[in-house]
Amino acid sequence: MDRSPNESVSGQVEPVATGSVPAPSHALLVVGAEPPPEKHAAEQVHRHESAAGFYSIYETVKRGVLEMGLGNSFRTLLKVNQTDGFDCPSCAWPDPDSARKTAEFCENGAKAVASEATKDRIVPEFFAAHSVSELLGQSDRCYEQRGRLAQPMWRPAGSDHYQPIEWDAAFELIARELHALDSPNEAAFYTSGRASNEAAFLYGLFARQFGTNNLPDCSNLCHESSGTGLTESIGIGKATIKLEDFSHADAIFVIGQNPGTCHPRMLSELQKAARNGCQIVSINPLAETGLIRFKNPQEPLSLLGAGTPIARLFLPVRINGDVALIKGIMKEMLEEDARTGGKVLAHDFIREQTEGFEALRADLESESWGDILESSGCSRELIQQAAAIAIRSEHMICCWAMGITQHKNGVANVQTIANFALLRGQIGRRGAGLCPVRGHSNVQGDRTVGIWEKMSDEFLDALGKEFGFSPPKAHGRDAVGTIQAMAAGQIKVFIGLGGNFLAATPDTQLTAQAMQRCRLTVQISTKLNRGHLITGREALILPCLGRTEQDVQASGPQFVTVENTTGVVHQSRGVLPPASQHLRSEPAIVAGIAQRTLAGRTPTDWASLVADYDRIREHIEHVVPGFAQYNRRVRDPGGFYLPNGPREGKFTTPSGKARFTVHPIPRHDLRPGELLLTTIRSHDQFNTTIYGENDRYRGISNGRRVLFINAQEIAERGLQSGSIVDLISRDGGESRRAERFKLVPYDIPRGCAAAYYPETNVLVPLHNVADRSNQPAFKSIPIRIEPSPAALAAPAAQAPESA
Ligand code: SF4
Repeated sequence: MDRSPNESVSGQVEPVATGSVPAPSHALLVVGAEPPPEKHAAEQVHRHESAAGFYSIYETVKRGVLEMGLGNSFRTLLKVNQTDGFDCPSCAWPDPDSARKTAEFCENGAKAVASEATKDRIVPEFFAAHSVSELLGQSDRCYEQRGRLAQPMWRPAGSDHYQPIEWDAAFELIARELHALDSPNEAAFYTSGRASNEAAFLYGLFARQFGTNNLPDCSNLCHESSGTGLTESIGIGKATIKLEDFSHADAIFVIGQNPGTCHPRMLSELQKAARNGCQIVSINPLAETGLIRFKNPQEPLSLLGAGTPIARLFLPVRINGDVALIKGIMKEMLEEDARTGGKVLAHDFIREQTEGFEALRADLESESWGDILESSGCSRELIQQAAAIAIRSEHMICCWAMGITQHKNGVANVQTIANFALLRGQIGRRGAGLCPVRGHSNVQGDRTVGIWEKMSDEFLDALGKEFGFSPPKAHGRDAVGTIQAMAAGQIKVFIGLGGNFLAATPDTQLTAQAMQRCRLTVQISTKLNRGHLITGREALILPCLGRTEQDVQASGPQFVTVENTTGVVHQSRGVLPPASQHLRSEPAIVAGIAQRTLAGRTPTDWASLVADYDRIREHIEHVVPGFAQYNRRVRDPGGFYLPNGPREGKFTTPSGKARFTVHPIPRHDLRPGELLLTTIRSHDQFNTTIYGENDRYRGISNGRRVLFINAQEIAERGLQSGSIVDLISRDGGESRRAERFKLVPYDIPRGCAAAYYPETNVLVPLHNVADRSNQPAFKSIPIRIEPSPAALAAPAAQAPESA
């Protein structure tokens, strides 16, 4: 979302101290699968050496048939990402602008669809039979396998069971608790990236008519650093490329991103690019299988061979060594420019369209190679090879994800990548640009239509004018600020429009305690998750339609709209009958809460908006720039692109120029024996949703509590492959301990380690956030490890075979 630089720096909310919050019970910490020590089941098995292939077809068919049945599998999957079908509810990878294939989805998209379209249901009898306390002892994977939530449920104060509740009574309960607040700012309205533009726009409208900008969202957790950094550097916080640019690129740098698991269809574009001779460079602490080789399931013949090599060059950067590494590459480029009399850098572009270059040049000249090599962990030779690719490239794309943004210096990481691209003018021309790859299907669209705690005055004025009210101007709270305020008793009602806030956020104990201090927590959900079990004094589960399902309102069948990573807004129309007659659409639920809460003091006809979503889109068109003729253009097959100045070579910063910025190489100053931990996702996982306990791309089967660590680090500690250890965060003493992780020797730089989230979120202190973006720093956590006392007391765990 575009914004002025000073907006991104400061909010107008009071910081909240969290030191007074008592430590919660350890029993709350069963995030993920916590096996008892004698049953640590994770095994190290054969690691797949190429991504996708036959196995992904097998997984797709297996999941589809098991969850949906044979007929529904075909009917449903063939509508995923089609112009007359529904948008994949998983990641935000774009669809082709031109002709689409019959099967336009990946294995992980199929898992997400199968999960939503499952035949299994959670009915009131389930909650009558199982108490909340009992369910808390189960794993996240068990929740996922229970099926779709089928009816609104209420957990009364003091009860250990949910019980059914009518929709009207649920809305009445929410209205009562909201009215009981001393201030609208005692409520928070969280949005996950699943919500459509229509639902998100209504939700933001309701929150502001209620009187608050407390609109935390999952963008606060994943790409806030990209938004903050890119807005300052080039004037827009989004990707500057189209999907077709991958076909025209001659160099693609994939930095801190694992597309094989997190954005699998990106591999098809990388495969095409590699076949065109494009040089693909992977910069990551772990060599991820998806960037090594890819067997495209759409090409039967390629399934039989060894697969297409993807990355020509892999730089095994230390965790958060990216600034050092990219500075090294840029320093090589500057030196080559001097040697060749100015033939490397885009001097005309730099002079006419940028500012701040001389400061960057001076900074790069002053950096020592010793610091660069030490901090990056990469050799000078590798850096020279990467620089040679960048120097030769006329069409370079840089992609990144949360390996870049979720650090204390996440904004600096993003801006350093922007510096790198600007040196040769690699923004605003065909086959070139910047691409922060978004993780959840509509996380970008939700922000575009107003889900942000600090939307610009222009947006708020337009919203107020359109609906005849005065939106609050004071900034609200983001995700971290919301947890702090809940912990301090300053937010008393929490409503989640999708998502799993508890599992997606850091400092699990503190967050759990914070949620429990609320008077009311409300989750608008399709499936059961841990956030339904760690609740406020009272709690509601409001079950909603999913993307796969038909949405029929008073005027007839509806579709919703979403925005993908490249800024294309398009429609999504479900095909399956709703999982239960009791479900309501997200726009209908938001409108129901708004109508009941605002009653006589809303100028908005909520029922009319829900009756016909075209009316919601008409309002979006009037409020948000770039949506002219929304209802007409979104009916064009494939939708339309939102305006994007930098993509057209026009930088939308205050000066009209792109800005080079200078950032120091970060220091972590690990203490003796400490490791820097990064959290990662397994291949059987989408964000916080756990589909299974295998990760075939890293050779893990039947468990998730594993620590990937360099073999020398294991040996130096007198431990062995398969030893069971506890992970202890430096900042938290015993309260930030993750127990019973099996050591897995892995090809990862010395001093570094990796483990799955959400199990390791408990190790991330809430105050460990990125400068200026306030995004939690999940990817650089100083920890120490020690043999697990629980495991030592149990019979010896079997050591896994070495891979
Ligand atoms: S790449 Fe992403 S959006 Fe596309 S099918 Fe796979 S999970 Fe869904």
